[in-house]
Amino acid sequence: MTSSGDDLLKQSLFTQVGPDCDKYGPRKITIIGAGKVGMACGISILLKCQCTDLVFVSVTKEKLRGEVLDLQHGSLFLENIKIHEGDDYSVTTGSSVVIITAGERQHPDDPRLRLAQRNLNIYEKIVPEIARHSPNAILIVVTNPVDVMTYVAWKLSKFPRHRVIGSGTNLDSSRFRHLIAERLKVSPTSVHGWIAGEHGDSSVPIWSSVNISGKRLSTIHTKIGQKGGPEGWDAIHQQVIDGARDVVKLKGYTNWAIGLSCSAILSSIIFHKQSIHPVSCFVKGQYGITEDVCLSLPCVLNSNGVDSIVNVDLTEKETKMLQRSACAIADVQRGLSWKHAHD
Ligand code: NAD
Repeated sequence: MTSSGDDLLKQSLFTQVGPDCDKYGPRKITIIGAGKVGMACGISILLKCQCTDLVFVSVTKEKLRGEVLDLQHGSLFLENIKIHEGDDYSVTTGSSVVIITAGERQHPDDPRLRLAQRNLNIYEKIVPEIARHSPNAILIVVTNPVDVMTYVAWKLSKFPRHRVIGSGTNLDSSRFRHLIAERLKVSPTSVHGWIAGEHGDSSVPIWSSVNISGKRLSTIHTKIGQKGGPEGWDAIHQQVIDGARDVVKLKGYTNWAIGLSCSAILSSIIFHKQSIHPVSCFVKGQYGITEDVCLSLPCVLNSNGVDSIVNVDLTEKETKMLQRSACAIADVQRGLSWKHAHD
């Protein structure tokens, strides 16, 4: 039936009372990149009913159309959340949160700088467009190396620092809590502990504060998680670091856990939860960090983005590790060549 035919049908069927609806509802979330990670973020958000409209932007037009059609066919089961797509950023206009997953994955043996440079080249095209169309949005950066890309997105968007958040070690902390929970036979939600620093090899396990119901494991064994500590516990941090590589070896990429992690971060933002997540943001000045970098510390998230960074106590060793992690990120950043001015 033609649209004028539809209009006639609707006029007979309905007696309109309210004003015409806008095309988009009040909570529009955009995902840039519709690859494995973008689609995993999308399904997590849809299943948790976190928006009225979900927009996907990608450069692979046909694949994008296929993914969106497939999801739209399930709208009966998804509270009729409207799903949109496009390769033009006008479709993203007025988004409250934009999740950026566009970019290449790390290949084994690929130096971090090479990946960072390739993804910087992509961000130089997309971030100014995102910022132009949604100047009040909060950005959640997922593309790797995520701490470098969070800094890049912050600079290119010119947004205030509290509105640019990297998914950071929210995922590493989930892996950490899962591994401890398995050993102690409790739920991961009952294990309190977190990973700070870079999402990557220089991440920092904060063993000094790992606790169950307030009982710190370091009061039972001072060397918990270290050489000379209880058997097997010193391997946990390495298992967290290797977590992504292990999954990639088996299935070629990671996506489900990062999708769930992003929707948890999103939930704290859109529902103004004031919940604490280890996420990446600009941290110069914290814990003696002198570098211009983003890395993960526990942050209170609300509808403004990062409300505050929690000033947790770290041991001297943990503080040093955190500073080294900042240096590792800064080293990569120094090697980048930018087309845009970024001061
Ligand atoms: P993928 O290759 O499956 O998808 C990448 C997507 O980016 C594709 O849809 C592609 O079309 C899109 N894209 C590329 N250039 C674009 C552009 N200019 N504009 C719009 N879209 C563009 O990759 P993936 O597995 O989805 O991974 C995406 C990124 O997420 C990678 O950098 C990966 O390393 C990262 N990642 C991060 C974490 C984390 O914890 N932060 C976890 C997993 C993956």
